[in-house]
Amino acid sequence: MKLTVSVIKADVGSIGGHTQPTKKMVQAVKKKIDGAIKKKLLIDGMVTFTGDDLCLIMSHKKGNDHKDIHTLAWDSFISATKYAEECGCYGAGQDLLADAPSGNVRGAGPGVAEITFDFNKKEPRPAETFMVFAADKCGPGAYNLPIFLAFADPMYCAGLMLPKMIKGFRFEIIDMNNVKGGDHVITLDAPDDLYEIAMLLRDGERFGIKAIYSREYDEQTASLSTDRLHSIAGKYTGKDDPVALIRTQGIFPAPEELLSPFVKVPFVGGDSRGSHNMPLMPVAINTPVTGPYCLPIVSALGFSITPSGRFSDQFTDFFDNPAWDFVRLKAQEKAIEIRQQGWYGNAMLPYDELEYSGFKVTMNKLLKKFKVVKRK
Ligand code: MG
Ligand code: MG
Repeated sequence: MKLTVSVIKADVGSIGGHTQPTKKMVQAVKKKIDGAIKKKLLIDGMVTFTGDDLCLIMSHKKGNDHKDIHTLAWDSFISATKYAEECGCYGAGQDLLADAPSGNVRGAGPGVAEITFDFNKKEPRPAETFMVFAADKCGPGAYNLPIFLAFADPMYCAGLMLPKMIKGFRFEIIDMNNVKGGDHVITLDAPDDLYEIAMLLRDGERFGIKAIYSREYDEQTASLSTDRLHSIAGKYTGKDDPVALIRTQGIFPAPEELLSPFVKVPFVGGDSRGSHNMPLMPVAINTPVTGPYCLPIVSALGFSITPSGRFSDQFTDFFDNPAWDFVRLKAQEKAIEIRQQGWYGNAMLPYDELEYSGFKVTMNKLLKKFKVVKRK
């Protein structure tokens, strides 16, 4: 039986700054999800938040990019926006960039990660497990390093040496700055094209991982949201705050192999006004952003799912564990350290990223005041 897991997220308002949605906003989305389960549009579904981003995690039989599922997500965000507006929340409806999308929220603001797969309880997938990562105050490139390491470096994923994974993984990488005519995508294989993959993924502002497939089994393991709001809106409207859906175990990396690169707490583009480089701190689900100068955060949940598409009665919240306290301290130390240089050099993003923001206005005013002095 074909099952689809859809993860759709959006920031539609938050309390006292870009911190977290209100309880009523979460309840409004939950009501929509529960209604859709009752109507049998969804098999299962739930809502979480990571910082100011609401995240819908849903199972159904409709396939990827389905009108009914995307419309449900859009309507859910609209109902949360109503509460956000009512109580004066900051940035109410901020990620809903279209008036009414034509049955697909891709390119309309919300971030989407979806995988459709066969689940017959047979080899090579006798059981199905997946993880959902959600990150706030950063762009899709925030996943480039940890996900690359988990799928392409045996130092982080020793499982790559096993017969089921030794052929490696196929990476679909997208040029996020290029939206003309559709998605600009390249397919590269790890380990064969390792250095070419690194060449692209080093620039997380422009290139992001869109999907990953097992080369041995031709099965999709990962889907990541890679829309950039500034590419859609033509200006800065908020950071992209990506989600990732990753099938785990067996023929794919195990959760621990996926999580281990996150101990690096890499500097990622985002943070305050989406304009700085700051470390990515792992946090429990439903954590608000209140750290020094924002501090980008990432959550990681693990689910099991039945062949009929029902989620396990509870999920595992991987980063909600004392084992990650030391990593969080490391992120805070790195954050405080780079903030010592404030606006200078690589503490802030390069100018071509700031070009979408209000910083451009200040810069353009200054550029006009330059005078040409002839050399003698
Ligand atoms: Mg926000
Ligand atoms: Mg956000």
